[in-house]
Amino acid sequence: MVGPSVRTAWRLSFCMLVLFGGVAGAYSAEAPARALPPMPTLAPRPITARAVMRGEKNAIVKEFDLVPVARADGGVAFTVKRSDLVPGVMAVEVRSPIATAKKDEAGFALSQRGLVFDFNKDSLVWMAHRGWIYMPYYAMKTPRDTFIAIMEGMRFEHDLFLKAENGDYAMYPSWNIAEIGFPPYEDMTVIFYRLPQEADYNEMAKVYRSYKFAHDPAVRTLKERIKERPELQTLADSIALRQSHASKPWDPKNKTDFTPETEPPIRTHRTYDETLSYLKQLKEAGVENVALCVAGWQTGGYDGRCPATFPLEEGPGGEAGIRRLCEGGRALGYIIDGHSNYTDCFTCSPLWDNGNIACLSPKGTREFNGVWSGGKAYNLCLKNAWETFLPGDLEKISKLGFRGCHYVDVFSAVQPYRCCNPQHPANKKEQMLVQIEVAKRCHELFGGFASECCMDHMLGYVDYINYVCAPMRAKRQAKSPKAYAKQVDRFVPFFELAFHDVVLSNPDKITQEVLDQDHNLLLVEYGGRPIFYGIGKGNFNGVVKAWQQFKGLRHLMTEEMVSHREIAPGVVRVDYANGEAIVVNRSAQPFTVDGVMVPVKDFKLLGKR
Ligand SMILES: [Zn+2]
Repeated sequence: MVGPSVRTAWRLSFCMLVLFGGVAGAYSAEAPARALPPMPTLAPRPITARAVMRGEKNAIVKEFDLVPVARADGGVAFTVKRSDLVPGVMAVEVRSPIATAKKDEAGFALSQRGLVFDFNKDSLVWMAHRGWIYMPYYAMKTPRDTFIAIMEGMRFEHDLFLKAENGDYAMYPSWNIAEIGFPPYEDMTVIFYRLPQEADYNEMAKVYRSYKFAHDPAVRTLKERIKERPELQTLADSIALRQSHASKPWDPKNKTDFTPETEPPIRTHRTYDETLSYLKQLKEAGVENVALCVAGWQTGGYDGRCPATFPLEEGPGGEAGIRRLCEGGRALGYIIDGHSNYTDCFTCSPLWDNGNIACLSPKGTREFNGVWSGGKAYNLCLKNAWETFLPGDLEKISKLGFRGCHYVDVFSAVQPYRCCNPQHPANKKEQMLVQIEVAKRCHELFGGFASECCMDHMLGYVDYINYVCAPMRAKRQAKSPKAYAKQVDRFVPFFELAFHDVVLSNPDKITQEVLDQDHNLLLVEYGGRPIFYGIGKGNFNGVVKAWQQFKGLRHLMTEEMVSHREIAPGVVRVDYANGEAIVVNRSAQPFTVDGVMVPVKDFKLLGKR
């Protein structure tokens, strides 16, 4: 446990780091005493890598061998310096001969939350776009090598490729220099960690865990956070509910710039008193711990007039109704906090200011990300928002009575949006630092911070995420066999092996709501926390049932997931740091392990050995 004065000193040194070094890649000797996870056993061997710089039409404009630099943690780093860049360079690749494989070879390629690619194709072009690189790494196991490579520097500016041509596979990052919108602001480094040949995704994830803890002083386990914020234990013990109260209709195809005169009417779906009544019924049904995220309460309803919050929608009950819900929910022992959106901005917002709040592209056009209930959703310049209305807005929201873990949409789901408006320019890293400031303010005002996915620049600040990300759903929903999502062969819990005990999570969009047994087993296997978007008669019994199961597993939410192994065909064993294990049986026969019989299509929690 770290005393307040040490924490203050650490905060100061951390601010200095933010100012001079940034968060990613920074390390402070004055960081509070944290349990730093050990680096798994490595098997260093000589390694080479080359920089390939491409210009117009993908032509190579410069290519050279990079100098290996040994790191104290056993990694071997290769750096392309900004001064290495030549005029006309549009993209920078770092390629190594160890990051290659041939069709039909044993092994796999791995990236993101645990997307596994077998070497089974003659031809493949798969790209993880820089906008959705949740963790900047890739990994491979081939007959010759087992390694994980971690990218440092301009973390939001590189894509990740896995390509196969005539059965020859190659994996590499490519920094998209032409699209930064600013001069390149950091050197580009790839660090290779070579593992013993028998290692697999378990050890790869543990390397990433060790690296992340060592390089980001903000990352701490939930257990360490609970020492300073005991109420976080209640959050970990709770199932997550989210209830919207008012919104305008959402037509994803209607890219309209609404005005206050043309926007559709706002409909109330639920009053705050009705929500409170449901919470009381859940309590009566034995659901002891709930964390409710109240949504659709701002002006314009859910995603209606972002980024404006006030004046509140009166339909669901206005400010008095929110206060009754907060106080009434807390009287039940439940956590009641709110949902905010500081990512989008709409033309019908009272804060629109002739579009001055939106991010501009390098060409001066307004950048947008989709269509939501407020119409065409432009990217909000977070830096400008933070320097103008946002701090006051958060403070006013906190006075409504929300407490626990304030949810800010999207911050951990997509890259921070750069802004080239000369009035308030900010590259993606500068916007990232503002996101962190917003999260820290939420900790001060509400007691915690929550967001959507596992974009790991927020890892040290986010207490729960609604889902890790959604590639499982994407693979299921993709229609074209050539779709990126369809190229993934299978999934493993890489994120959970790295960070299960750092942030509360649910594995994917397909493991939310009321689940059939197949999906329930997936939720259990990945150590997920149940979450429901909306409660009512339709899912009341499902919520109660999920609670009853969760009650027996929730103590694992703050435990490190130590390993994940298939111990027999269709049978998976997941071990936790407290000595317990979960065995999931998807085979057609009952399976007995440690004297415990696991029925078909079921799971068992094994006690400490
Ligand atoms: Zn701006």
